[in-house]
Amino acid sequence: MIAEVITDVSAHPVDRPFDYAVPERMEEVIEPGARVRVPFGNRKVLGFVIGIKEESDVPDSRLKPIDELLDPEPVLTGEMLRLADWMKQTTLCFEIDALQAMLPSALRAKYEKTVHILEPEKLAGEVAAIARNRRVVPVKEFGDRLLPALKQLAAGGAVSIETAVRQRTNIKKEKVLHIGGPDRLREIRESLPKSASRQAELIDWMETHIGMSVPSKDVMESAGTTRATIKALVDKGAARETEEEVYRKPESGLMPESGGLPGPLTEEQATAVGKIGEAVDAGRDETFLLHGVTGSGKTEVYMQVIRQVLDLGKEAIVLVPEISLTPQITSRFKRRFGPMVAVMHSGLSAGEKYDEWRKIQRGEVKVVVGARSAVFAPFRNLGVIILDEEHESSYKQEDSPRYHARDVAIRRSQEHGCPVILGSATPALESYARAHKGVYSLLTLTERAKKQPLPEVQVVDMREELKNGNRSMFSVALAEAIRDRLEKGEQTVLFLNRRGYSSFVLCRDCGTSVQCPNCDISLTYHRATERLQCHYCGHEEQVPLTCPECGSEHIRFFGTGTQKVQEELHRLFPEARVLRMDVDTTRQKGAHERLLRQFGDGEADILLGTQMIAKGLDFPNITLVGVLSADTMLRLSDFRAAEKTFQLLTQVSGRAGRHEKEGEVVVQTYAPEHYAVELAKDQAYEPFYAIEMGNRKRYSYPPFYFVALIQFSHEDLIKVSETAGNAVRYLSGKLGPDTVIIGPTSAEVARVNNRYRYQCLIKYKKEPKLAGVLTDLVKIYRSSWMKEGILMSIDMNPSTIS
Ligand code: ADP
Ligand code: ZN
Ligand code: ZN
Repeated sequence: MIAEVITDVSAHPVDRPFDYAVPERMEEVIEPGARVRVPFGNRKVLGFVIGIKEESDVPDSRLKPIDELLDPEPVLTGEMLRLADWMKQTTLCFEIDALQAMLPSALRAKYEKTVHILEPEKLAGEVAAIARNRRVVPVKEFGDRLLPALKQLAAGGAVSIETAVRQRTNIKKEKVLHIGGPDRLREIRESLPKSASRQAELIDWMETHIGMSVPSKDVMESAGTTRATIKALVDKGAARETEEEVYRKPESGLMPESGGLPGPLTEEQATAVGKIGEAVDAGRDETFLLHGVTGSGKTEVYMQVIRQVLDLGKEAIVLVPEISLTPQITSRFKRRFGPMVAVMHSGLSAGEKYDEWRKIQRGEVKVVVGARSAVFAPFRNLGVIILDEEHESSYKQEDSPRYHARDVAIRRSQEHGCPVILGSATPALESYARAHKGVYSLLTLTERAKKQPLPEVQVVDMREELKNGNRSMFSVALAEAIRDRLEKGEQTVLFLNRRGYSSFVLCRDCGTSVQCPNCDISLTYHRATERLQCHYCGHEEQVPLTCPECGSEHIRFFGTGTQKVQEELHRLFPEARVLRMDVDTTRQKGAHERLLRQFGDGEADILLGTQMIAKGLDFPNITLVGVLSADTMLRLSDFRAAEKTFQLLTQVSGRAGRHEKEGEVVVQTYAPEHYAVELAKDQAYEPFYAIEMGNRKRYSYPPFYFVALIQFSHEDLIKVSETAGNAVRYLSGKLGPDTVIIGPTSAEVARVNNRYRYQCLIKYKKEPKLAGVLTDLVKIYRSSWMKEGILMSIDMNPSTIS
């Protein structure tokens, strides 16, 4: 028997399966999807079995045997192995990266497996001899020959086989006392010396708990006894003590769901649930785009569909964009579906993630709510996959494997025969275009579920403020609105965009930012060279001293940090209680949830934050949302800048007035006439879509063209620019005439860690040869450029190209 194994050799990636001989003792247990330890060169490495076959092209004499089988039960299903293969082809990653991405980090490069003896009396023969009286024994002490026996014992519950994770992320155990029968207890009591009064007391307690199993720490509390007393009686045989697995509990309590239980579905909701339900029943892999304004009850639609999925005995994956959503959203799901729900997000420790993953793998839960990587939840019978806020860029992984959760979801749905729901108030342009073409089925919710009006949005022109002598970062209108909320005891959310900090040059008098003459996009300021540059065509120029439009000298880099805003708030409103939520204040585990809870409990008047507060917030007392500057994102040199601005403004505005009290939104900007700002005011998605599609078509961007981004870096500027140039020449010789190759240009951040960065962009409509050509480019890279110290990466669907 031969196993095909993908090895974890990342330093010098060898991206193909290698054949290994399966020792006879493993033949019965080894399965594709299991991890193994194999010799590789003169090392031992971790590998994944991806196939079993009878014959190999490698002669027997050169075939090395598998060293150790780490998983008697495979950790990856056949579906996952096929998915890894597909990821390799579509994202051009190494297969090992794809395989590792699907597992919790606890299972990644660890190969220390242990056997936990749960019922020692059921062990016999060699297994018992090796285990002696230990509770935990490394698997390797048993040797592969005994694996079939262990597997059987595990199936019967006498032992469990676990991966030993780093100590702090180990499986959590609790001691449990199993109290013996009445005869035994009486016997022991009679043999106790007079002085053993504590033991006698514990016997008294045990006699009222005969035959019961109680966690030892509860026994201590309830019987008022000590560990030593328990131990003495266990040794005498009055009770048996075992260690049992418990899961860590990541939730520190449920967030209150504001607004109580919803009423009956609105007509639009019912239609959506009906259509998706049909696909669920029919087992059809249909992708639905659920386009609903903020507060239209999309989450309620998800939950009704999930109910139906569960009734069919199937499972559901719910993806939410990032940690800002989890406390409120997960508690809504937990409230509805109780212990059937597992939660997976980046805020959990490795051990907690591993516990949640095991619950899914063992079929103990049926719903997972999680961030991007939860799309790989090891369910076997999926009934629906949901992406909430499907336009969010955090669904795209930025390093290898560079997958998009949306693509993976659709791919999995085809294997499982189940629908996918993409939900958003502001769908990605690509998604809406697909819905228009009939690739996705469009479902629309036009009204807010509780019929509240959309909040009133006021756009303030910051150029006017300056003309009127207001140099503060707060417009008169916003400052007044905040003061009003403080007086009424209502809450304010202030939003500051962190991205694009100081990266473009803006005239404070006329609002002009310096544009590229060729590309209709803002030039980016490069600190390293102190010049302005265009990423799209490579144009470069000096930073102007006066505004090219109006001649004003008030031209400067744009951007402010949250800390500065907080100081200013304190100066203007010394009595206001301000909570700041940004990368600095949320570094600690659980900080996010704690800040939200404080704000929800009314412990602060103002919540000030970056984009992490833009979504998911749903508190009844928020009646004012202020956007300090809509421009920071708009001026980014990214073809998605307008789309991101529109999405963000819509999301942020959606935080206000979701309940009984009406909401107000104040948006400050230097570009009030920009269509993204204008149209976000009324959440006018369709008109925005029409204009933006026109622009994308004009400049040949997605969804009219696909883009692929190739990036290079090296310590030597000449070396990296030469290599990028060679790559571009190579590509232009191989790709079709309709494909556009832009570059090489220097990347936005031109130097990182003393490495210079160059990039080139491929825009194409139909390029069937592309994957093959890029694969060849990767070969050139690995066989020569890599040895010269160049790093090259390819992103087939970059979420940003700057
Ligand atoms: P979305 O996800 O589209 O932003 P939510 O699902 O969060 O919207 O719904 C907004 C609010 O409306 C929530 O408080 C929810 O409980 C409530 N809601 C949803 N559906 C209904 C309904 N059919 N009737 C009354 N209230 C509803
Ligand atoms: Zn100007
Ligand atoms: Zn340009």
